[in-house]
Amino acid sequence: MAKVKSAFFCQQCGYETPKWTGKCPSCGAWNSFVEEVIQRDDKANKNARWDDEDDKINRKAQKIDEVTTTEERRMMTPDAELNRVMGGGVVPGCVTLVAGEPGIGKSTLFLQCALQWKNITTLYVSGEESAQQIKLRAERIGITNNNLYLLTATDTGTIFQEIKKIRPQYIIIDSIQTLESPYVESAAGSVSQVRECAAELQRFAKATNTPVCIIGHITKEGSIAGPKILEHMVDTVLQFEGDRHYAYRILRTIKNRFGSTSELGIYEMVSQGMRPVSNPSEILLSQHDEPLSGIAIASTMEGLRPLMIEVQALATQAVYGTPQRTVSGLDLRRLQLLLAVLEKRGGFHFGAKDVFVNIAGGLKIEDPSIELAVVCALLSSYEDKALPSNICLVGEIGLSGEIRAVNRIDQRIAEADKLGMDAIFIPKANAKGLNKENYSIKIKTVNKVEDVYRLLF
Ligand SMILES: [Zn+2]
Repeated sequence: MAKVKSAFFCQQCGYETPKWTGKCPSCGAWNSFVEEVIQRDDKANKNARWDDEDDKINRKAQKIDEVTTTEERRMMTPDAELNRVMGGGVVPGCVTLVAGEPGIGKSTLFLQCALQWKNITTLYVSGEESAQQIKLRAERIGITNNNLYLLTATDTGTIFQEIKKIRPQYIIIDSIQTLESPYVESAAGSVSQVRECAAELQRFAKATNTPVCIIGHITKEGSIAGPKILEHMVDTVLQFEGDRHYAYRILRTIKNRFGSTSELGIYEMVSQGMRPVSNPSEILLSQHDEPLSGIAIASTMEGLRPLMIEVQALATQAVYGTPQRTVSGLDLRRLQLLLAVLEKRGGFHFGAKDVFVNIAGGLKIEDPSIELAVVCALLSSYEDKALPSNICLVGEIGLSGEIRAVNRIDQRIAEADKLGMDAIFIPKANAKGLNKENYSIKIKTVNKVEDVYRLLF
């Protein structure tokens, strides 16, 4: 007789409690507990689970000196951008969660990767689409691979049975929200199902040293649907983001047990799939025949890669009593702060103006060194005077209007130089120890927002 057990789970964070509670003790959410039945039937088909007996791992405690290590051997995918965000290739046994809004192209990206990866056996498990639909998508991508297996299943029992038959070297699960474990009796996508399925996959990956890639949808609020817990269970979390209306997609590392978390991959969505963009600066800068007001070029860093990006600003007379501030690709509070600095230190009356700021290409920039470019774009629009074309700006703005030093100044200058910029404005504090002879670009140092204003307007 199978034992039926039920528990209450917080739908926000996955906290488990035997009794219903109004407020979650873990995340503080109200009314977030939902009862779920967990049934663990140990007599279920043994094949339908990756058991400890299946793996050959020695469970005995052993002396650390006796543990043998093998050189961490990474598997290089055919996609250089993906290798970069994974920290230099896929680590065997690593479980990766790829999170993103539905319809953004996660499935396309990983199907494409599986198709290109011809020297290993890959299993692509889809609970979302039929094999025919996936085949059609593969035909659009235009690559054939006879080492790629498709499986349309949602039941982890079936999936593990097929894994035992095929013995794939790489597994892609699309998506975790469609999986159902026979050990848990709640609906697919619920906290307990997602948790159990992820745990089964994790166990399998560690036991066999097979890398597993799990695709997961995130909700509008930006959290990985229901189970935030998933982020803690996996080794690597990648976020696939981008605006549906733009062709560019960003693959960002949120967590990486085997590498840095500041890496970034850029793709362009084309009709054949996702095209990796190896030189992003060239495409992110739009070409204008004549200089326009309200536009400034920033030199930012995303991970270890310098990125030139266009900042657009528009300041107009406010139509309604309360002036509007609208931003895309930048934190709104940071824009408000910059406007306050300009108002107080420079005497510019942005208080009576509607202000719109946009980062070209649909990118979201977190690097504070973009602030000098934002300020210059704002001033350019305010004065309705275009900045000289072919200059770029880098610097963080302090509350008193001072321009603060940024990191990796050499790389930023080198990138601007490579793109054929005429001049770069850098914080004065960064000029120390900088060898200007190394670059053909003109380097101008600025200390305060007033300096930039005097030089440019
Ligand atoms: Zn909670």
